[in-house]
Amino acid sequence: MKAVFIVADGLAGRPTDVAGKTCLEAARTPNLDELARRGAIGLVDPIAPGIRPGSDTAHLSLLGYDPYQVYAGRGVFECLGIGMSVQPGDVCFRANFATVTPDEDGFIVKDRRAGRISFGQHELAEALNAISLKKSVGVEFDFRASTQHRGALLLRGEQLSRFVTDNDPHRSGKKAVAFRPIVGHDDEAACRTATALNELVTYSYEVLHDHPVNQQRDRAGEHPANYILARGASILPCLDPIETIYGVRGAVISGGALYRGIALACGMEPIDAPGATGGLDTDLRSKAKTALEALKTFDYVFIHVKGTDNAGHDKDAAGKTSFIQRIDAELIGPLMDGIDWNAAHLAFTGDHTTPIDYGDHTAEPVPVLFVGPNVRQDLTVAFGERDAGRGGLCRFSGQILPMLFNYNNWAPKFGS
Ligand SMILES: [Zn+2]
Repeated sequence: MKAVFIVADGLAGRPTDVAGKTCLEAARTPNLDELARRGAIGLVDPIAPGIRPGSDTAHLSLLGYDPYQVYAGRGVFECLGIGMSVQPGDVCFRANFATVTPDEDGFIVKDRRAGRISFGQHELAEALNAISLKKSVGVEFDFRASTQHRGALLLRGEQLSRFVTDNDPHRSGKKAVAFRPIVGHDDEAACRTATALNELVTYSYEVLHDHPVNQQRDRAGEHPANYILARGASILPCLDPIETIYGVRGAVISGGALYRGIALACGMEPIDAPGATGGLDTDLRSKAKTALEALKTFDYVFIHVKGTDNAGHDKDAAGKTSFIQRIDAELIGPLMDGIDWNAAHLAFTGDHTTPIDYGDHTAEPVPVLFVGPNVRQDLTVAFGERDAGRGGLCRFSGQILPMLFNYNNWAPKFGS
């Protein structure tokens, strides 16, 4: 048996068009409708009813973990997702280049994204990594650039703590905030971590502001990438790998570092699909082809697509609807043709609702579908939020991967 688990990020919505349909309901999705007809659908609360999920906590819950038990911040997933090796004790952050101007006792953030820098990031990262911290003896760090202004930062050393605040003021024109121990966790390790971070970001201006990449940006009239903002302090979560729980090996196909990182933390192996990005321009046919190829060697494949959520955050109803239509035609279609339906189960869902009017995650439940030979077919013939409310699976919380694996007879028994 094989299994395919697909998450379309921020898939679900609220009534958006004049007829009161969500983007998913308005989209033409003949393939998903056909799978709903062959299988069973329902509504899933990604974490629990009324809880607004982050993408990271929602994914942990859908993958079968209790995020309240295991979640230890987001930065570690970003580090893992861009290929950094994270060890127990390391403290990880989401980080990005920013543009600052020095002030008498700090730095004013002019642009939190450094003009969405599109060249020279790796040279700048190299310059940063050459810094050695003088006050914070024994603390090492690694900054890795990913796409545009984004990157990840890892601190390594004895006695570090994830209980430190961010330096991101979250608004342009404001002063970069000093890292501080979080109240209630302000022990020696948190103080040492905050000191190392403050030292690092101060040096970051010294080595970056006059760097040739920034001189070039300056000549081109672009904002220099002359400072580092870091947030989402976290450590390696304590997770039982999926292979240990179920005895099966899986691969992840995702253009987004966060999702690849979560899957890696759960023990999946990353596979690159050519042309796959974390946006609306991703090559969905390439993801389908890569997944079908991966199924020859892996027991299951987890495919993540991000464009649905991006369009939701951008309040772009037409963009979300048309991306859902592309998922149906370019991802689901080729998978339907390529999967051996006598020996495979597939689950399709979202990790939360991202309504167009709100532009951020909300707590409504998300439609989910399961299809394959062991699924008890329900009476629904279309896939959407309201159809899912009438589906045979009713409404439940998280646990999509365990449910999918149960259909494959891979689930361990609880009790005797
Ligand atoms: Zn999400």
